[in-house]
Amino acid sequence: MPLIIITGLPTSGKTTRARQLHSYLSSRLTSNTTPSSPSPSSTSSTTDPPTTANNNPNYRLHLISDTTLSIPRTVYDLDPANLPAHVRSANASEKDARAALYAAVKRVLSPRDIVVLDGLNYIKGWRYQLFCEAKNVGTGCCVVQVGTGGGVERARGVNLGRLEKRRRKQGVVEGGVEKEGGEDEEEEEPYEPSNWENLVFRYEEPNPMTRWDSPLFTLVWDDDEAQARQVFDQIWEAVAGAGRKVLRPNQ
Ligand code: ADP
Ligand code: MG
Repeated sequence: MPLIIITGLPTSGKTTRARQLHSYLSSRLTSNTTPSSPSPSSTSSTTDPPTTANNNPNYRLHLISDTTLSIPRTVYDLDPANLPAHVRSANASEKDARAALYAAVKRVLSPRDIVVLDGLNYIKGWRYQLFCEAKNVGTGCCVVQVGTGGGVERARGVNLGRLEKRRRKQGVVEGGVEKEGGEDEEEEEPYEPSNWENLVFRYEEPNPMTRWDSPLFTLVWDDDEAQARQVFDQIWEAVAGAGRKVLRPNQ
C-alpha cells in the first residue's frame, strides 16, 4: 500500500517521524538493490512492482510535504486579519494548498512508488480522497498518526519556541547584526498562535474502523529508536510485505 499518510497535530513531531521513516524505507530499499530479471514463467500482475534478487519489491520512494511544495503555514490560518494581500480568502488558500498536494501525490503514485505524505492531513474527507486516489491507481494506503503522548502542551511548547526563535531572528536582522551561521537551516516555520489553536480544534482523529484510515499505525514522541523501528518494520510489512493489501478501483 504505497501511499503513507502522516497525520497529527501541528508541531507534534510529524516531520521528524516522516524523515526517520523515509530514511528507514530508503535503506530497506537500497539494501535490496540488485535487480533480478523477471522470470519468463512469472505470473505476477503487470501492476506489481518488479522484485529484486532477494524477492523484495523494487520501489521508488518519494517524500511530499508542505515544505517540499513551499506551502506556507498561513494557508491554514482562517483569521481574515492574517490574510496575506494576494490571497482570495482564507478557505481558498487551504483548498489551493490541498490541490497542490493532491497533484503532487497523483503525479508519482503508482504500485511501484512509495509516497510518504508528511502533513497535517487532519480532514477526514481529505484522507478519504487520498485513499480513493490510491485505489484508482491500483495500490493501497495506510495512515501513521504521530502524537506527543499525554496532551497537546508539548506540541504547543514547540510552536511557541519556534515563534520566539523567529522573533529573535527578526530582531537580529532588523537590528542590522549579521545572522549567525546556519544553525536553523532545518527548522520549520512556526504557526501563529491562533492558527495553531484552531488547527488543534479542527483536527479530525483517524478512525481505524474506517477503510480509509486503516491500517493505522501510531508513534508517540517518547517512542525510542527501537520502538520506532518496530513500527517502521510493521509499516514496511504493510507497504511492501507479502501480505500487502492492494486496493482495486472496482472494490
Ligand atoms: P511537525 O512536523 O508535526 O510540525 P516537527 O517534526 O517539525 O513537527 O517537530 C517539532 C519539533 O519537536 C522538532 O524540531 C523537534 O525538536 C521536536 N521533536 C519532534 N519529535 C520529537 C521526538 N520524538 N522526540 C523529541 N523531540 C521531538
Ligand atoms: Mg512538519
